[in-house]
Amino acid sequence: MEDVTFAINAPMPRKDPYGALSMPVYHCCAYEFPDHKAMIESFTGVSDDPDYSRVTNPTVIHFENIIKSLTGARDVVAFTSGMAAISAAAMALTAAGKKIVTSRHLFGNTYLLFTSTLKRFGVETELVDLTDLEAVRRAVDEDTSMLYLETVSNPQMEICDVRALAEIAHAKGAAVVADTTMIPFVFADMKSLGVDVEILSSTKYLSGGATSLGGVVIDYGTIEGFDYRLRKDMLMNLGGYMSPHAAYMQTLGLETLRARYTVHEDNARKVAEGLEDIIADMERSGKVEQGSMSVCWPGLESNPYHELAKRQFGGHYSAMLTLTLPDEESCFRFIDKLKTIRRATNLFDNRSLAIHPASTIFGTIDAATRAAMDVSDRLIRLSIGLEDSADLLADLKQALG
Ligand code: PLP
Repeated sequence: MEDVTFAINAPMPRKDPYGALSMPVYHCCAYEFPDHKAMIESFTGVSDDPDYSRVTNPTVIHFENIIKSLTGARDVVAFTSGMAAISAAAMALTAAGKKIVTSRHLFGNTYLLFTSTLKRFGVETELVDLTDLEAVRRAVDEDTSMLYLETVSNPQMEICDVRALAEIAHAKGAAVVADTTMIPFVFADMKSLGVDVEILSSTKYLSGGATSLGGVVIDYGTIEGFDYRLRKDMLMNLGGYMSPHAAYMQTLGLETLRARYTVHEDNARKVAEGLEDIIADMERSGKVEQGSMSVCWPGLESNPYHELAKRQFGGHYSAMLTLTLPDEESCFRFIDKLKTIRRATNLFDNRSLAIHPASTIFGTIDAATRAAMDVSDRLIRLSIGLEDSADLLADLKQALG
């Protein structure tokens, strides 16, 4: 069965007394048992009957199970946000005295989780250029617990060779963990590239138009004991389970994921190509200096990561793109002039969104670190939504004017 058919028609674990077509929201905190035996079996994991909604909830389990079927994973655990998923997975995989190898090109809070929060618990993070395989080979050693990457880094739009990195990491026994928020698992088979654990902010594509926060950890079953540590240790001891209401909305989001993503990406292509033309016109007419503006989207043939992205992600490129303008002041003027595109953070809302990352998401990070992370103050991040692409391009054109 095709993934979209399954996502829409995923069977419910029990027959609903009212014949509900979608999984009801079980908002209760606890569940009653017929006798002490059933109670013991649930609490000790002999049965999978729910006991307490911090660790197991029928609506959330249903959402997790659909992703499990779609990915063929050993287990899928849903969290209250992308960051909760990343921190739980990282804490399940690493320990004091161990090392994380990753890039400076990371989502800001992930960068701070590794370099600041986990550092206080004795975990070292070595930042390397993940596109430099020799540098990665030098960094990964026997103490490395995981190599962590983002499939398309936010906002630098860097793409690394996942299979090559996985070979290096696995040779030293390190887990390969990928943040795949940008390109959903139904389009890119990360397991076949050697990824052990996939994590995503389901706040983005999955939520179905920014309906709710969420995070998902997909465990491909290649790391011994990880499933137990994640579900029994991290989930139970740290909390952070997805709420039933969010799981309900994100289950609906899964049903429309393929349809929405197709439009997002198609619009991103039209906008990226349109922006290239607008920039070329502005340069030709002398309005801006040659080379002072550019658009970055891996689906463009001119993009340095195009071939790698095409090979790794099954011809998918996400709907985030960045626009480099002559200076910070022109970025602020551009942001203020937008009319259709909204001035907001987040990605893959139904609406198109624009943000100047350096002064906002990375605004509290010192300038030197920001520079090291290649978060330029000339950069605008655009998340392309589901509107008509001609309206988006008209808005971008007038704001650039
Ligand atoms: N990973 C990436 C690539 C992100 O872009 C984000 C948020 O923007 C996160 C993780 C964190 O997700 P959340 O905001 O759901 O905690």
